[in-house]
Amino acid sequence: MSRGTAIHSERYVWPLVYSLAWLVCAYIALELTQGEDGIAAVWPSSGIFVASLLHLGRSGRLATTVGVGIASLLANYVGGLSLLACFGYTVANLAEGWLVFYLMGGEKSRGKLLARPMNLIRFAASAIFVAMLSAGVAGVLSAKFDLDFLTSWATTVGLGMLIVAPFILFLVQSDEGRKRLVSVRTVWALMLVAVASLAAFGQAQVPLLFLPVLAISIATAALGLSGAALALLVVAVIGSVLTVYDTGPVSGYFPLQGQQVLFLQVYFLGLLVSAMPVALMLAQRQRDLVKLSTSNRFLTSAEKAAKVGHWRYAPSDGAVYLSSEARRMLGEDARPHTVADIADLFHDDDRKRVAHVLLQSLATGVPFVFEARIPGPQGEMFDTECRGEVEWADDPQKIAIFGTMMDITDRANTMRELANARAHAEREAEETRLLAETDHLTGIANRRKILSDLERTVLDGRARSEKVAIAMVDVDHFKSINDRFGHEAGDRTLQQLSSILSDRFADAGMVGRFGGEEFLIVTRGLGASELDTRCTALRDFLCTYAWPVEGLSELTLSIGIAELGEGASETDLLNAADKALYFAKRGGRNRSVVFEGNLIRV
Ligand code: GH3
Ligand code: MG
Ligand code: MG
Repeated sequence: MSRGTAIHSERYVWPLVYSLAWLVCAYIALELTQGEDGIAAVWPSSGIFVASLLHLGRSGRLATTVGVGIASLLANYVGGLSLLACFGYTVANLAEGWLVFYLMGGEKSRGKLLARPMNLIRFAASAIFVAMLSAGVAGVLSAKFDLDFLTSWATTVGLGMLIVAPFILFLVQSDEGRKRLVSVRTVWALMLVAVASLAAFGQAQVPLLFLPVLAISIATAALGLSGAALALLVVAVIGSVLTVYDTGPVSGYFPLQGQQVLFLQVYFLGLLVSAMPVALMLAQRQRDLVKLSTSNRFLTSAEKAAKVGHWRYAPSDGAVYLSSEARRMLGEDARPHTVADIADLFHDDDRKRVAHVLLQSLATGVPFVFEARIPGPQGEMFDTECRGEVEWADDPQKIAIFGTMMDITDRANTMRELANARAHAEREAEETRLLAETDHLTGIANRRKILSDLERTVLDGRARSEKVAIAMVDVDHFKSINDRFGHEAGDRTLQQLSSILSDRFADAGMVGRFGGEEFLIVTRGLGASELDTRCTALRDFLCTYAWPVEGLSELTLSIGIAELGEGASETDLLNAADKALYFAKRGGRNRSVVFEGNLIRV
């Protein structure tokens, strides 16, 4: 409904409906009791006016007051009352409605649900008080002070409010109440009430006045609070009309109409009082159910947003509860009954661990948290974080596990991507490092690397008192290989030589390309003479080696060997080896020379 339409119906439509209803009900009530001081058993119009004041806003209330005022004057005038009495009754009619409105809290009463027990009790008390006051005012204004008139007015007005106003307000205040009333159930329940009322008031042979009480109880149970009010209205209308036409048992027992009215009022009040507690209880239950379903809806929304499901497992009877978010991950068909069943819902690799954790927790009562994968119903894989604790009880039958399961797939994916990225970066860094330390032609350590190896070896050797010896290896007349067989053949020869050197000295240390056709061998645990022996063996090996370069039959090496001495640095060691190499060259090449102090051993 748009705002404009809402204001329109508040100011014009509702006031008109209320005023017309007021007029029709007043006319009928007066018509039914013609000749008996204008007093009906029930005066529904008072209930209609009160309902309008509690229902509408300020402008609606004022408009209805004007409408009902006119209707009241009209109804009473047509009913044949004097002008003074018309005014008196009208003022009383309007004042009683407004008084109840103020007793209910005035402006604050709007939206107060009469379906709540405290509100209904306040309303009943206000209605009874005002009905008594109204009777007094009507008595004064119409100059009638006999007790019959006053009590009859008071109960008539009071019942009108008590029966009619709650019914109207249940309908206009609660969508739920309205919806429940428009149903097949309403039809049969009201038919039952109508039949019971007709049976009770339509004949005088059998006393069946208890029947409407039963029917109202049934209608209350079936339809709730608004149904109770509607049923009461049906009984009141049928009972009043049939009694006025002298068909029922009431006129039989009570010949005077004043007595009949009083009986009916007491009877209706009895019905009202007996039906209300059950009706209020049902209304409370209905509200609780609505509240519960609202909380459940919030919980479900919160679970969905947070991707956290919850579950409960009672081992004694195998009962498992899964929340909707838990079912989203585990699948709608998941029906576990045992710890093994629960574990089976997890990934093959995680099952054993999950079962162990759950059994352990059940046995010790210690809370748990674990991460595990769950194959989802659509073939997807959920990463979950499951937490839980045991609801401990002395009676083992009552022990249960309550747990939550959080969908951490996104987080786990991010972590996996991060781990992959880190591994990739580490691999690249390692490759870069290797590249920076590797000689691109031969694939062995380059000068930088072999020098750093030397530095480390010297430190370690000193720390462990191990011998450190190095050999500086230079190919003899390598230039001529290039010249004779080409640069590419020279490259292949260097590659071949590198792999021979690496193989032969792998057990003793490291080999690196020091530059051009020069190599450095760094050994630990070998003395100079042992290294010399190995170098001699190497040279012997090369004498007969078949080089993969056609025409190249002989390749010799000159080698300078030095051993780390007391207090010498690695630079001293390199210089010594270099010096020894120089002597090897000068001595005629194809030989090893060991540097020993100033002595050179060839
Ligand atoms: P010596 O016996 O005095 O050592 O004579 P040599 O010819 O080996 O010495 P020299 O220092 O005069 O020449 C070294 C040659 O090694 C020069 C250069 O062309 C060659 N060389 C250096 N690096 C490479 C390389 O990476 N590939 C090839 N094919 N040749 C290289
Ligand atoms: Mg050289
Ligand atoms: Mg050379």
